[in-house]
Amino acid sequence: TKFTDLGLAEPLLKALADDGYETPTPIQAQAIPLLLQGRDVLGIAQTGTGKTAAFSLPLLQRLAASNRRAGPKGCRALILTPTRELAVQINDSLKAYGRYMKFRAACIFGGVGMNPQIRALAGGVDLLVATPGRLIDLMNQGYVRFDSVECFILDEADRMLDMGFVRDVRKVVERLPTDRSTLLFSATMPSGVRELADGLLRDPVKVEV
Ligand code: AMP
Repeated sequence: TKFTDLGLAEPLLKALADDGYETPTPIQAQAIPLLLQGRDVLGIAQTGTGKTAAFSLPLLQRLAASNRRAGPKGCRALILTPTRELAVQINDSLKAYGRYMKFRAACIFGGVGMNPQIRALAGGVDLLVATPGRLIDLMNQGYVRFDSVECFILDEADRMLDMGFVRDVRKVVERLPTDRSTLLFSATMPSGVRELADGLLRDPVKVEV
């Protein structure tokens, strides 16, 4: 399989070619076509398998395919990840793969001032990458809303639980529209992750690498 066989749009293929990526990794080859179809996916994959591109590429394509806009303080895609380091990496990947597309993005994590993040969110963004703690703070203060979310991605769900974020994740999930696509990635499937997945995913396809 080549990236050109997966149904990806020209601007994404061009960005991949720039980076010298030709062959999708197994998780990419399996997940990209499903996500382009709008299916919910349960991905069992570790870091290093190419899972970031596996969700970033179809996500960018789906957002570009409809010209909706997020309302003020809103976002169209929400990516929750456990650490600041991962949030920055995902944000960088989205920018790189989306370099020939137009979208607004914000990256939210703790340990830095809130004001630039509040400003970034104010008018609404297409893509929001966030860690749970800071996102909940902003949510509780009324700076972010989730009613325009079309796609929700929960990254490293097992680590999220290990780090004690399960309540925060549930608080966010409660506010998401039920009419959305959801993707959950986890390296392992302990019972806590299974329960979370059961509540989040609708008729999911399981992809394991
Ligand atoms: P990830 O598992 O998403 O953190 O990706 C691991 C690393 O593999 C990152 O540095 C990516 O830039 C790289 N990578 C992802 N997909 C591919 C691919 N299809 N071909 C070559 N490198 C890739």
